[in-house]
Amino acid sequence: MISLAAVVQQWPALDSRRCTACGLCVTICPTRCLSATPWGPWLARPLDCLACAACISICPQQALYWRSIPPESPEDESSGRTE
Ligand code: SF4
Ligand code: SF4
Repeated sequence: MISLAAVVQQWPALDSRRCTACGLCVTICPTRCLSATPWGPWLARPLDCLACAACISICPQQALYWRSIPPESPEDESSGRTE
């Protein structure tokens, strides 16, 4: 099955400079495709992402944003916004 995120070519990405690792985004994700790490969420299963925007909407720090490529590794996410 192809994920909706793959169809629209948008995945949530992390701006680690803003994230406080509160975990709200991980908790609200309906498909559990986000995993908690010490520096914030990691999109561990991008193929399961529905592009529903729940994680982006709930973030109190505006630390998540749409990106046109899925992250390749947790280190990629932790490096912060690159666009
Ligand atoms: S909701 Fe925002 S601040 Fe909290 S862990 Fe997720 S990205 Fe970080
Ligand atoms: S967009 Fe929706 S499905 Fe994708 S990671 Fe965020 S909450 Fe989960």
